[in-house]
Amino acid sequence: MLEYPEIKHLASQLQEVIPGKTIDIVSFPGMVKQFVFSEETQPVFRERLHGKTFDHVESCGNHLYLFTKEGAVLAIGDTGGKLLLTPSNKPIPKKFDLRLTFTDRTTLTMSVQMWGCIRAYANVADAIAHQQAVLQEARDPLDHKVTRRNFLNWLRAWEEASKINAKKFIISRKYITGLGNGYTQDILWHARLHPRRKMDTLNDDEAMHLLDAIQLVTIQAIKANGRTTERDLYDQPGGYEVMMGRATLGTPCPSCDDEIIKFSFEGGACYICPSCQPDPRE
Ligand SMILES: [Zn+2]
Repeated sequence: MLEYPEIKHLASQLQEVIPGKTIDIVSFPGMVKQFVFSEETQPVFRERLHGKTFDHVESCGNHLYLFTKEGAVLAIGDTGGKLLLTPSNKPIPKKFDLRLTFTDRTTLTMSVQMWGCIRAYANVADAIAHQQAVLQEARDPLDHKVTRRNFLNWLRAWEEASKINAKKFIISRKYITGLGNGYTQDILWHARLHPRRKMDTLNDDEAMHLLDAIQLVTIQAIKANGRTTERDLYDQPGGYEVMMGRATLGTPCPSCDDEIIKFSFEGGACYICPSCQPDPRE
């Protein structure tokens, strides 16, 4: 899935090239797919975007917003897959869920993997309402208000803390938004927390280390333009090598040399160091 760092990188790449491009062809075959979520009908989607010229691009959590000069907004988020800009002299991907070809004959395609949300909002107010809903759910990990003190205050007052484990805390966006299973393994390793640790069992130091780890991994991944397993607007991989993942399973932990292990938990694979991240049940 494209998480906060990948979306941030895509937003900055789009912002460099997309303003001024006018949409000539709108094709949205993914609309009929079960795991491509949209609320517009095909004609409404086309009518909102056809002939419009992009103005600027923003990101919020794991969502992209492409604003047009006329007011309509294309939003793509909560998605896996590839968002690609193809020059006029190169073939576009054979399979795509959304295609916008511009009057300069370049083409933007979105090929959803797993699931994804693609919307065409009629106006800026609707898009901003969606952004606000995202941020009402949880905070941008790098927002200046996301501090150790604010996090601790929130955590100690949080009624669900005894029910939610550290993995679910991240992937189900309880305090910060935009991060999923892809970065959770590295975050929990940096924080020296087992994914099963219930959030109310974290002492103050552990809680602060968790927030530090979230921000550290996010910043490192943004600097590297996302993970090596994801692609940017020009089909190039990012530079962030996941430390705790499929590629490092069975290899020594970078900190203690114990072997990295894998298990399934909360609907996905977890990779941990059993020494650095002790199981709370043992
Ligand atoms: Zn270790």
